[in-house]
Amino acid sequence: MQTREDCLAADRQDPLAPFKQQFDLPPGIIYLDGNSLGVLPRSAQDRALDVIKHEWGAGLIRSWNTAGWFDLPARLGNKLGSLLGAQEGELVITDTTSLNIFKALAAALRIQQQRAPSRRVILSERDNFPTDLYMIQGMIDLLQQGYEMRLIDDDLPLEQALDETVAVLLLSHVNYRSGEMYDMNGVTTLAHEHGVLTIWDLAHAAGAVPVNLTEADADFAVGCTYKYLNGGPGSPAFIWVSPRLSNDFRQPLSGWWGHNRPFDMAVAYEPAEGARRYLCGTQPIISMSLIECGLDIALDAGMAEVRRKSLALGDLFIDLVQHRCASHPLALVTPRNHATRGSHVSFRHPNGFEVMQALIKRGVIGDYREPEVLRFGLTPLYLGYADVWDAVDALKDILDTRSWDRPEFKERTAVT
Ligand SMILES: *Cc1c(COP(=O)(O)O)cnc(C)c1O
Repeated sequence: MQTREDCLAADRQDPLAPFKQQFDLPPGIIYLDGNSLGVLPRSAQDRALDVIKHEWGAGLIRSWNTAGWFDLPARLGNKLGSLLGAQEGELVITDTTSLNIFKALAAALRIQQQRAPSRRVILSERDNFPTDLYMIQGMIDLLQQGYEMRLIDDDLPLEQALDETVAVLLLSHVNYRSGEMYDMNGVTTLAHEHGVLTIWDLAHAAGAVPVNLTEADADFAVGCTYKYLNGGPGSPAFIWVSPRLSNDFRQPLSGWWGHNRPFDMAVAYEPAEGARRYLCGTQPIISMSLIECGLDIALDAGMAEVRRKSLALGDLFIDLVQHRCASHPLALVTPRNHATRGSHVSFRHPNGFEVMQALIKRGVIGDYREPEVLRFGLTPLYLGYADVWDAVDALKDILDTRSWDRPEFKERTAVT
């Protein structure tokens, strides 16, 4: 695609183009940050009103039964599970990704204590999302049993880091900064050959790339619903456990929602059969209810079609930036190779922060991650090829005119 006309022609041919109508995007905005906070599905507005007015307002406490509130984590979990290659009853929506990492890690370490008690290493990646690393550090500090964190990096590749001392491997399927994607099947197989249990963080994968947890024979998975799944700010996360391990899953956050008969009000904790034992306490029902709106759209579109367009948008974006902004110091961070690329594209620029602020001022919303990384989320459900053209056009103009070089674009806010 050499011209804007070519992009418009591609939009007219695009089978996913009509999906944009299902989202409430502000006019004049090109939104390249669906990898951080998805946009508002139109149906979520009616759903929110219904949950608040009818289910909460009129139904009151009865709605736990009559509006299906009690079953919501499992019912929506099944819908999401079908998008991730899980079987019925294996996945629940609950808590945050950080909390679900804690629960999965605790359960995995407990299983390994029984299978191979001498393993004391929790393996992750230096470039992993910080909360993943922080949760590992907190767990090690809590357990006080000589666990240590080992990190894969340029000096320590995965193949070398995996050995008989490793208990658990915690990796993000798609890296939040670089957009690089692991081969989930290959890495899981390799980990299993070393007797290691895997926890996959799917925050940047769920709704973005095809995932099949059953086929990968993964052990545990967690992830967000507020990114590519358009669940709303801070909407609850999810946790999945392989049916091979679900009966052995025990977690320290043993709240009453994970009890086998929560309304027996028994003194002794007894974990529920199946995925309900991954829950802890009372769920945020209003926020959780809205997740269904984004989920239904994703299921309707299908991940194969989403992936096809996501790669095409990414290829277009990379080509346009590299050709039209060639005179500027932009370095591609994301792999070009389809097999190892997620659904966002990142470039480094020495003034990345200011350049992104200037873009946002023009209504081209991406985000910035240290160090120097401009991140552009390519979300096929509400982004077209001409949008990508226009975004690169704005980037080129900002770089050509150095309009980023103003005091107003240097001010740091709490959230970048
Ligand atoms: C966004 C993200 C999270 C966020 O975790 P929260 O507990 O929802 O704040 C965790 N892990 C990865 C890899 C992410 O990209």
